[in-house]
Amino acid sequence: AKPSTGRKPYYKATLSSIEDRELPVVAVVGQPNVGKSTIFNRLTRSRRAIIDATPGMTRDRLYGTIHRDMGSFRLVDTGGIEERSDLIAEMIKGQTHHAILEAEVIVFMVDGRAGLTVPDEEIGQALRMQSKPVILFLNKMEGRSPEQIDPEFYKFGFDILVTGSAAHGEGMENLMIAVENKLEGKWRDPKKAVASPPIRLAIIGRPNAGKSSIVNKMLNEERVMVSDIAGTTRDPIDSYLNYNKQTFCLVDTAGIRKRGKIKGSQESLSVLMATRQVENADVIALLVDASDPEAAQDAAIAGIANKAYKPIIVVVNKWDLVEDKETNTAKKFEERIRRRLKFLETAPFVFVSALTGQRVTRVLDLAVELHERASQRVTTGVLNRFVEDIAKNHRVPRAKGRHFKVFYMTQVEVSPPTFVAVVNTNQPLHFTQERFLVNRIREAFELDGVPIKLVIKPRS
Ligand code: GDP
Ligand code: GDP
Repeated sequence: AKPSTGRKPYYKATLSSIEDRELPVVAVVGQPNVGKSTIFNRLTRSRRAIIDATPGMTRDRLYGTIHRDMGSFRLVDTGGIEERSDLIAEMIKGQTHHAILEAEVIVFMVDGRAGLTVPDEEIGQALRMQSKPVILFLNKMEGRSPEQIDPEFYKFGFDILVTGSAAHGEGMENLMIAVENKLEGKWRDPKKAVASPPIRLAIIGRPNAGKSSIVNKMLNEERVMVSDIAGTTRDPIDSYLNYNKQTFCLVDTAGIRKRGKIKGSQESLSVLMATRQVENADVIALLVDASDPEAAQDAAIAGIANKAYKPIIVVVNKWDLVEDKETNTAKKFEERIRRRLKFLETAPFVFVSALTGQRVTRVLDLAVELHERASQRVTTGVLNRFVEDIAKNHRVPRAKGRHFKVFYMTQVEVSPPTFVAVVNTNQPLHFTQERFLVNRIREAFELDGVPIKLVIKPRS
């Protein structure tokens, strides 16, 4: 078995070669000291400057090639604009100008902690005149939450805003996804596309629910020990499988126990492992035993997944053991479980038998669907129209007689989709008001089954 590598790598990168010249270009621009070289070095995994060797090209643009699911692109570091005093003039005549002309997509980097500065505004203005897709990247945001984003950045007029830290490697995958989306239709060499990275599917559930059995059925071979003795498979084991052109990494997390009942270090270790596996997973399959649907542990186990904001598929296993099934037996089961596990909300249900294999691949289909939904990115432009629509066509709930108004919204992260809403009040919104917003977002962007994070920020 392959060793667990923790989080999946967000890119493969090499130094650009001559053959890469046909690849689309993504330029990183921004005023000095915002971290352009740092992000370039991190993303291209180089510690030194790479000089483009193409004859006739000015020598101080640096290129690195990044390989992603959909294809490859070249990242260019402009080397920076040196004179703060005459920024725009520098840009127009300098490397930055060339890079911008050449680029399909621009990553506009700013110091997120410093807030929006005058030079940022000048560069922003110049970029807007180019009518090229621009991703605003707020760097140096390590350890900061979306609440701490300067609201001025939302109003800055760029569609996509991503936060992170080049020095600490935070937000890099989000940035790559944003770039990938903006490059859509511009890949010049689809042959270079590599297979999409595996979807990490964690199988959780109480002992004996059938985790090892379903993993085995999916793999169609015996890779982990199936045992009649509860809790014998203790360590999470990763196994890989290909299904329908998609690779999955199945993580069998045998042995999660309700935290309150943990005895001894072996058990606490297994909870810790399971929690970590859940955090690293893309999608969770929560196994419920159809022959014991009231098991108290289910709620505690599902709670781990819920807290991590992961999409959950409720897999009712051992469906073969349920006798005298009628047309709505499944529906009644589902209602019963939903009543008990209220936070499941829109999570899909599937009734399977790990023993016979019935509907087991349906779990994989659902995992692909949920993963895609959780990874989608809604542009600020679309969100602004959404905000207008709410104001016009919905009755926004009042709480304690107070009314709230959303000024604008931005999606700052994917998986989980995280939205920042800038509102007219610095009072915390009432539960029903937050819920109202989350439900509208879920409806509008088809995020059924995907947990949504909402950050409310007063306009300062
Ligand atoms: P450039 O002039 O835009 O290429 O900026 P550099 O990459 O040379 O970075 C300027 C300074 O910011 C250096 O001291 C970096 O170590 C620092 N820096 C870059 N990225 C980050 C970050 O994410 N967080 C923090 N705290 N510092 C960073
Ligand atoms: P784990 O502890 O969650 O990994 O559960 P196992 O995969 O070890 O399964 C526990 C027991 O349930 C074993 O005896 C399995 O044969 C049995 N089992 C698992 N799935 C099914 C199923 O779909 N139908 C039936 N009838 N038995 C199952």
